[in-house]
Amino acid sequence: MSDPAQPATGDHVVRAMTTDGGFRIIAAVTTDTVRDALAAQHRADELGLRLGELITAAVLLRETTQPARRVQLLWRDRRGGALVADALPDGANRGLVNPGSDQEVSPRGDHLLQVDYTLPNGALHQATVGIPDGEDMSSALMRYLHQSEQILSMTGVVALPGPQGVRLVGGYVIQLLPEATREVIDTMTDHVGNLEPFPHLLEARAATPRALIAALMGDLPYQELAASALRFGCTCSEVRVMTSILTLPDDEIASMLAGDPLEVRCDACGRQYVITPDALRAFRDARDPGRARA
Ligand SMILES: [Zn+2]
Repeated sequence: MSDPAQPATGDHVVRAMTTDGGFRIIAAVTTDTVRDALAAQHRADELGLRLGELITAAVLLRETTQPARRVQLLWRDRRGGALVADALPDGANRGLVNPGSDQEVSPRGDHLLQVDYTLPNGALHQATVGIPDGEDMSSALMRYLHQSEQILSMTGVVALPGPQGVRLVGGYVIQLLPEATREVIDTMTDHVGNLEPFPHLLEARAATPRALIAALMGDLPYQELAASALRFGCTCSEVRVMTSILTLPDDEIASMLAGDPLEVRCDACGRQYVITPDALRAFRDARDPGRARA
């Protein structure tokens, strides 16, 4: 949990609020998380930068709306190619290039930003906003927050190229709260408008979430609400691999049970699983005791 006295080293996301209750700022630095995700995807190119920004946007969106839920963002081109980012409540994040498709997602042209998460009642929230050619991830996040979450905000998201794909990745959301007065809105808007462009700000003097919040808050008094670590991580497991195998048609499962051990690679993290016929049979029988007796 958050302890403002603790130094936030490495990848973190930090939340802070002005003492007048007018604004909340969520700031994240995700460099190591993105580097690990790009290594798993074998990416160090322009698409890798977009994936880094998508992962960062997913973290910011999770923290802005409901930190305790999993958020998935998709960046789609018009032909169906996509980047996918998952931000999990425990601070783990992962990213995928073109999952389940041979079609390479186009780095240029128009895109869609799709946001998926599960609501407290179990229903799936899914919303999409357009990203016209030339518009960046930051603008797409701001438009999504306005259109789908009724959150007025100023945003910044950037992945700067470097060794292993990126040298620095970070972002922020300044959320306007109902308590904000006209005067404090003007103060914040002027202050942020007079700052250097976000990539320069991040690199020159705000390369940690706390430094970023301090730079964005300017003279407005504020307090930190929460800070939590971020990392690259995956949701895969042997159980999940075997569960997905068992969704295949019966004849395919039967031939696997009669064949050699199956090697399965997780597309998201690169982890290799070796599933033996014995393990698969035992798993199937444990899930379906009726079948084991038959
Ligand atoms: Zn995995």
